Amino acid sequence: MIRSRSVLCVRAFSRTYATATSPHALVFIEHRHGVIDSGSLSALTAAEQLGGQVSGLVVGGPDHVHSVVDKVKMLKGITSVLHSTSPQYVEPLPETLSPLFEKLLSNSSPFTHVVSATSSTAKSLLPRVAAKLDVPAVSDVTSLEHDPATGSTTFTRPIYAGNAIATVRAPGSVAIKFFTVRGTAFAAAASQEGSNAEVKAVDAVEVSDSPTQHLKTTITKSDRPDLGVASRVVSGGRALKNAETFASTLYPLADALGAAVGASRAAVDAGYADNSLQVGQTGKVVAPELYMALGISGAIQHLAGMKDSKLIVAVNKDPDAPIFQVADVGLVADLFDVVPELVEKLKK
Ligand code: FAD
Repeated sequence: MIRSRSVLCVRAFSRTYATATSPHALVFIEHRHGVIDSGSLSALTAAEQLGGQVSGLVVGGPDHVHSVVDKVKMLKGITSVLHSTSPQYVEPLPETLSPLFEKLLSNSSPFTHVVSATSSTAKSLLPRVAAKLDVPAVSDVTSLEHDPATGSTTFTRPIYAGNAIATVRAPGSVAIKFFTVRGTAFAAAASQEGSNAEVKAVDAVEVSDSPTQHLKTTITKSDRPDLGVASRVVSGGRALKNAETFASTLYPLADALGAAVGASRAAVDAGYADNSLQVGQTGKVVAPELYMALGISGAIQHLAGMKDSKLIVAVNKDPDAPIFQVADVGLVADLFDVVPELVEKLKK
């Protein structure tokens, strides 16, 4: 039973050159053209749990930075907001951002932790800066505990596709602890009335010889909720046969439920659904209120991306399909019979 996981190991980092101080987290706030990423709001909540000061860092071009700063300073738990503007930060790359982080984290830095969502940018940026500072970086954290007496922070993070949980401790002797958080494990920080957060501009560090350049970003448009944050997800697997039946079977159900659409890797690889819809170890990790797995066998790599959903409903012809081991409601049936009937009932 994969839902019962256990603590696998305790690993301690041992870099020694700092003493315990009151925590002060620097949270990298990511946004796309002024809209704050939900993962960054979860990172703020995780940072607040350290029990000290929380500073947000917003970077970007002049068009959006100030509106994002105005939103960030109203978020619960924020004590200050740093912002830096440069054409290089409009589409931030780890290579162009890391010198700014290194400047902010130089010797006189007040920061004890650097926190971000487990985003594509941060997964490259944080380990890069941590390596340059010779301190540890812990990724995909799902819970944390900070001990103010010793300055140590203990993190848990899923490993082996979520089949085990590692407990990792960075002792107080580690000067700056870097970690990325799994968005589904922490509530999004909410706005609050009034704010005393200090706002401070930081000069950008221009990089003239970046080894990478941003060429273009292509955004997949959809009227449905975003898979990563949707409260309901309807996912289809290989059983959906082809792209046409995937769409004609799943989309009416998703629309009736106001749900996002997801897919197994087999469905994505077979071309039924876009890669951005893949749920699982090598896709998106989701934890909605309702997850419907239709014609999905329940391979461990798929379960890694959805087994923390609050209510899992599975429809599969095979009574021995592993998906039923994690399902709260399981139906042994042909999905091509069940789904249209369900849509009809939901429409009434
Ligand atoms: P199948 O395993 O073929 O299952 C299809 C299911 O549909 C069967 O259980 C069958 O009984 C049922 N079925 C058939 N017809 C019907 C019907 N008419 N009505 C009802 N039920 C029906 N997979 C992911 O999903 N996400 C990942 O991120 C991912 N990452 C991976 C990473 C690695 C390194 C590896 C090695 C694999 C990864 N996989 C991932 C692949 C994974 O191992 C499985 O192959 C995949 O999840 C299977 O997809 P599926 O359940 O749609 O297909």
